[in-house]
Amino acid sequence: MLTETVQKIRIPRSQALGVLDGGQGPVTSSGTLRNGYFFPLDSGHALQLLRMAGMQTTDAVSENEEHAERLDGYSGSVSDRLTIASVRAEQRFLRGQQLLYRGNTCSLCGLSLPDELFVAAHIKPRWACSENERMDARNVAMLACLLGCDALFELGYVVVSEQGIIEPGKRRSEQVADRIQHVVDRKCLAHGEESRQYFAWHRDYLYSTADRQ
Ligand SMILES: [Zn+2]
Repeated sequence: MLTETVQKIRIPRSQALGVLDGGQGPVTSSGTLRNGYFFPLDSGHALQLLRMAGMQTTDAVSENEEHAERLDGYSGSVSDRLTIASVRAEQRFLRGQQLLYRGNTCSLCGLSLPDELFVAAHIKPRWACSENERMDARNVAMLACLLGCDALFELGYVVVSEQGIIEPGKRRSEQVADRIQHVVDRKCLAHGEESRQYFAWHRDYLYSTADRQ
């Protein structure tokens, strides 16, 4: 019986399906969803989903055997092992770094805007990064404006090619066609030798999950 508040998280279905193997939790072996409210997940997949939702474990549970074992038998509230605050602090730090590196210019549309209209957008999301990649603050993230570029890139409406050119992604909508056209064919200002691999990951990931959307 549940006696404590469950932490509420929301993750796009396509992204959650990208993490869960067939037969795991609510996903059937043929990749469709089961009906129901509660499904068991192993701790590794559960942590991956929580990270995807922007949460962070207070210690590196999944990377540490000893802790991972402890988590398997853990039956208390999830919320006391997680902190949203640390993710916010990391975002502030990353944005500050990116503003220093790149000035007040959106890496996608090229607009110059006030600081507060930018976010440090992870090119490869933090849940998919190794520890070293996460530390690569300069190259793993870019500066994306809140006037649309951040969302267009994160959701896969646009991708950045091997040559650094912004191209339409597999996700399409007539309603945002103008916004997409506004950035397509531009050179992505954050693309370079050091960040190329992260943009490649973003393209591959979105293409591999596009048919599940
Ligand atoms: Zn922009």
